[in-house]
Amino acid sequence: MSKILIRGAKVLGGEAQDVLIDGETIEAVSSGLSDEGAQVIEAGGQILLPGLVDLHTHLREPGREDSETVLTGTRAAASGGYTAVFAMANTFPVADTAGVVEQVYRLGKESGYCDVQPIGAVTVGLEGKKLAELGAMHESAAGVTVFSDDGKCVDDAVIMRRALEYVKAFGGVVAQHAQEPRLTEGAQMNEGIVSAELGLGGWPAVAEESIIARDVLLAEHVGSRVHICHLSTAGSVEIVRWAKSRGIDVTAEVTPHHLLLTDELVRSYNPVYKVNPPLRTERDVMALREALADGTIDIVATDHAPHPHEDKDCEWAAAAMGMVGLETALSVVQQTMVETGLLDWAGVADRMSYAPARIGRAAGHGRPVSAGEPANLTLVDPAYRGVVDPAGFASRSRNTPYEGRELPGRVTHTFLRGRATVVDGKLA
Ligand SMILES: [Zn+2]
Repeated sequence: MSKILIRGAKVLGGEAQDVLIDGETIEAVSSGLSDEGAQVIEAGGQILLPGLVDLHTHLREPGREDSETVLTGTRAAASGGYTAVFAMANTFPVADTAGVVEQVYRLGKESGYCDVQPIGAVTVGLEGKKLAELGAMHESAAGVTVFSDDGKCVDDAVIMRRALEYVKAFGGVVAQHAQEPRLTEGAQMNEGIVSAELGLGGWPAVAEESIIARDVLLAEHVGSRVHICHLSTAGSVEIVRWAKSRGIDVTAEVTPHHLLLTDELVRSYNPVYKVNPPLRTERDVMALREALADGTIDIVATDHAPHPHEDKDCEWAAAAMGMVGLETALSVVQQTMVETGLLDWAGVADRMSYAPARIGRAAGHGRPVSAGEPANLTLVDPAYRGVVDPAGFASRSRNTPYEGRELPGRVTHTFLRGRATVVDGKLA
């Protein structure tokens, strides 16, 4: 049966409507649609969103298949309501050639759970010395438009300038992991009261903010487009706000964990809270929420960073940095943004689907929920309350900071071009 009728869902949180899917396409959105010849999904009380798009995912393949593969990562993505993810380039080998990005792209096609758009490295081997083959990666079958050395900062201003100039020719974007490396040598957590009390090396806000300030000015100077990964400080928000008011072509993302968690959690010395950029203060969290609400920050991106047990379950200083996030992102956004009244569901659709698809040029994603559009859709039950149990994750890794925490909302169905990848909260 190729027809599916989603009955009575609140489209983008608005009026209850019926949505008829025929094959890969939305055929009609209206009330009182006939269910003749269609499989019916009763969706009363649920929210229907465009399929979510994550501009910042680490899928770890090739090279660290012990933490995640393209298949397990895309299964995790579908579980979290995503229909497209952008895969970061810090794999082994690094995705700095057409060959590697095509391999990741092909693995994504084979997975069938979620579209995978590879991100290309800005510099060869992420070493920050020499531009990678940006043009060849763009011209390849993978059609790369987003470039990033994420995990590392492109700290050389001349290399950053050249990268911005280069991608401008084909409408690409450089996504910067803003971290001044000299200011963060030996850093273990946010620099502040808690780091001073714990005697851990601090990671000052200025290490992030100084790179963002430099890069928005570089983008303005060469007339190119820059994207700032995982903003984490109130000061970063102020710089991006200033840059936008000046007409600079900058976009920015925030992770779910930076919208909810603070550096107070580091007092537990539980390495599950060790992440780059680090968890900051309550004041930063509130500034990030406000900026996401007013559009200064364009999108939520997960920075899904799977690590195997042995890389996280050790003393703080030795533990790897990063958290998984695909399967909890929407719940954290519901708690921090929707239930606080800062963002409605239409706003969530913008920050988690329309805007990331636009920034990354993800064709067929981030489209309106209307007739004639590709049926990339996510159905959410906002009334659901559940305790996070990583044993139930589709991801190969379990390093979630939310274990045992109650979060609202649950993705009940995900559709990738009309095909259900998640049914009743379970992978199809
Ligand atoms: Zn990063």
